[in-house]
Amino acid sequence: MSLTSALSSVNTPTVLAVLAWLVMGKPLTIAAYSYWARRNAGSPRRVFRGAVVTAEQSRWEARSLVLVLTDASLLLVLITTDVLRLGPDTPGRILFTTCAVGLWAEVWFYFVHRWMHATDLGWWIHQHHHRSIAVQPLTAASFSFCEKFFVYTAAWQLFLAVMSRFVPVSIVGIALHYTFYFLTSPLAHSNIEPVPAAVAELPFNLGKILGSATGHALHHVRNDTNLGFQTTLLDRLFGTYATPTSDDRASFKGAQP
Ligand SMILES: [Zn+2]
Ligand SMILES: [Zn+2]
Repeated sequence: MSLTSALSSVNTPTVLAVLAWLVMGKPLTIAAYSYWARRNAGSPRRVFRGAVVTAEQSRWEARSLVLVLTDASLLLVLITTDVLRLGPDTPGRILFTTCAVGLWAEVWFYFVHRWMHATDLGWWIHQHHHRSIAVQPLTAASFSFCEKFFVYTAAWQLFLAVMSRFVPVSIVGIALHYTFYFLTSPLAHSNIEPVPAAVAELPFNLGKILGSATGHALHHVRNDTNLGFQTTLLDRLFGTYATPTSDDRASFKGAQP
């Protein structure tokens, strides 16, 4: 099936705009968060004060930015081969698509992330991301090809493709899922905690449902904690949720690969 005929039943300019957003979105949000993190480098909101990012770390992290091409490339293939079926972008379909892939990404990532930290093969796939102990927004791009392609791109899009055999999915819903990821992933790696203490201390841990810069910075220091993707729910359910102790904050100083 040609690109034109595959896209004829949907809004072609929207599809092309979404493909462009999948390429440009993460570099743009990483750039914006990097500017914000630099401005807050001396702020009391900084999680690990002793965190030092080297120029060499920035270089290997920046090299991984090329992997943003996997998302648009695979999505283009799945749409043009009619493996992933798109439907009209009604509000209901947009909401359903975003929620379904978001829920899948959360559950999938938690268990695959546990596996990657517990097995030799998993660690071989994931260790590139953990070369960075001191995190910065650019760390959000730092993956091996295997991790980026199989754990994120293919896992999300093949789930959407299977789902679309039953209910055609929304291209806008797909874009919203990616946008949430583009906004939250560099923030989680910023080492700057934007959530005010008053929110974090709400009763019943209500302020700690979403993942945070503090939680993910701790994961880069203590790899067996905070394995969730966008929320802390599965970490709290399975006992892997943790907050930094004063020892964590003190012992971090000077820790570099
Ligand atoms: Zn990370
Ligand atoms: Zn990890």
